[in-house]
Amino acid sequence: MIDSIYIPDYLFHSVLDISPEDLISRGIKLVAVDADNTLVYDNTIDFIDGAKDWVEKIRKSGLKITVVSNASPNRAKKISGHLGIKTYGACFKPSPRGILRAAKDFNVKPSEIAMIGDQISSDIVAANRSGAVSIKTDKVADEIRFALLYKRRRKKEKKIMDEVLKTKRYGFND
Ligand SMILES: [Mg+2]
Repeated sequence: MIDSIYIPDYLFHSVLDISPEDLISRGIKLVAVDADNTLVYDNTIDFIDGAKDWVEKIRKSGLKITVVSNASPNRAKKISGHLGIKTYGACFKPSPRGILRAAKDFNVKPSEIAMIGDQISSDIVAANRSGAVSIKTDKVADEIRFALLYKRRRKKEKKIMDEVLKTKRYGFND
C-alpha cells in the first residue's frame, strides 16, 4: 500500500493538456504550477513550446495562476518576469508552505488550488499536504543537473506510478 500523500489526484502528460474549463468545473480558482521540468527545462529559464500561450489561456479564462517553485528566488523572478505573473521561489516543496502562502495572498482556500508539477516527491506531496488538488505531469526531459540523485528519485517515483496506474488513467475522468 502506498501512503496516500504520494498519490496524485489527476495525471496528465503535459500542462498543455490541462484545460481551464475542466479546472473551473472542479471548483479551482488558482492554478499553482511548478517551474522545472513542468513549464521550463530543468534548471533553466527556457520555456517548453506552448508554455506561454497556455499560461495566457489560463489567465483569459478568469482563473488565477502563479508559479510555486523550488528554484532560487533569482531564477524564479526571471521566470515570472517572462510570464508576467507572481512567482514563489525557494518553496522547499514537499513543504506545503509555498502553496499555503499563495492561498493567503490570492485569498482562496487550499482546496480551490490545483498544484501542477512533475515530481511526486515534491509537487504532489506538497499539494496533498496543503489540501490542494494535486496534478502530476510527465517530466519534460531528463535532468542533467544532479543526474544521479534524480535517477534514484525517478526510480522511486516509477514504483509509485506503476501502482497508481493500476487504478488511475490520464486526464480528468470523474
Ligand atoms: Mg519540477
